[in-house]
Amino acid sequence: MPPMRGRGAQIDQRRNRLYYERAGGRAKPSDRRRLFAGDFRQDLLRQGGTLRPTAVRGRSLNPAERKHIYGPVPSRRLGRSLGLDLVPYKICTYDCIYCQLGRTTHKTMERKAYVPADDVLRDLEEFLRKGGRPDYISLSGSGEPTLNADTGRLIAGIKQLTDIPVAVITNGSLLWMEEVQEELAQADLILPSLDAGDENIFQTVNRPHPELSFMRVAEGLAVFSRHYSGMVWLEVFLCAGVTDDPEQVGRIAEWAEIIHPQRIQLNTVVRPPAESQAMAVTGEKMTAAKALFAGDVDIIAGTENQAPEGHAARTLDDEAVLSLLHRRPCTPNDVAKGLDMHVNEAVKHLHHLLKAGKIRTVAKNEVMFYVPAARE
Ligand code: SF4
Repeated sequence: MPPMRGRGAQIDQRRNRLYYERAGGRAKPSDRRRLFAGDFRQDLLRQGGTLRPTAVRGRSLNPAERKHIYGPVPSRRLGRSLGLDLVPYKICTYDCIYCQLGRTTHKTMERKAYVPADDVLRDLEEFLRKGGRPDYISLSGSGEPTLNADTGRLIAGIKQLTDIPVAVITNGSLLWMEEVQEELAQADLILPSLDAGDENIFQTVNRPHPELSFMRVAEGLAVFSRHYSGMVWLEVFLCAGVTDDPEQVGRIAEWAEIIHPQRIQLNTVVRPPAESQAMAVTGEKMTAAKALFAGDVDIIAGTENQAPEGHAARTLDDEAVLSLLHRRPCTPNDVAKGLDMHVNEAVKHLHHLLKAGKIRTVAKNEVMFYVPAARE
């Protein structure tokens, strides 16, 4: 990696040039020292310019990289995680009430190459060639990644490119399929979910595709875990009033014991969910729930990593997101489209702004929008 000083200078030059071009040449050279000042950014937006986060961050992402790769982002569970997006927004087998990405727009069981492995590998190769070195390469994205029928080819291709461990963040709904079991066998870490202990709660919380039943998914998880030679970290997402009483938690814990993962990670609603009835479980109840599980159990809700080297970039992008919200209320997907960033990155910035008290949520026609905190 080049020395920070030289790289920082290059980034600033590039960033200034981009802002200058964005302003349509309206910024005088003497204005360049103001390019990072909030008032100039506001001027730029008023003139119809757009703040591109790729420019704000100063990292030279080409359009192809933007398409299938996002991050590395600080992840609660994986450190600095480079996300590979294997399905377009928002294709999933579930429509979870707590989903931070909003409602599922295409609920399906159809496996196909929504994003071809060759395209993703080309982007990844480019990223690695430029010296990128995340802690994990994570298959995830804007829905359920195992719906991508190229998953096996993709993992094999990543293994040829690098020794960085490969994680798969999945809802686990397709792990009963032999083809999916074989494809994921090459990964180093699988992070599946189990949010219910019976059919009724499964339907309430995950709202699955009609071809999926609780038993099919839970038994699939158990079979997969038994034969898989890598690590399995099971995430259990609890919702207040639905899965926070000892009886429901106990049922999930019994299945967790059968699945027998290396780690169990308890989570709850931290970011605005798809449905307003999905609410956070109190810290006290999370602790009580933890006691019902056997083995290595963590509560991961609210423990998001803040990678120090990412802080400055995060602040700049937060400002771009805030500027956009001052112009119009947005969903996470609106922010992603408006600022040319991945929806998962948009969610992280929105969460950061929410925590800072700079924005709030409003529900409109049952859809959650983000607005500046001061707006009526
Ligand atoms: S939380 Fe995950 S599994 Fe549930 S709807 Fe959202 S993307 Fe799909």
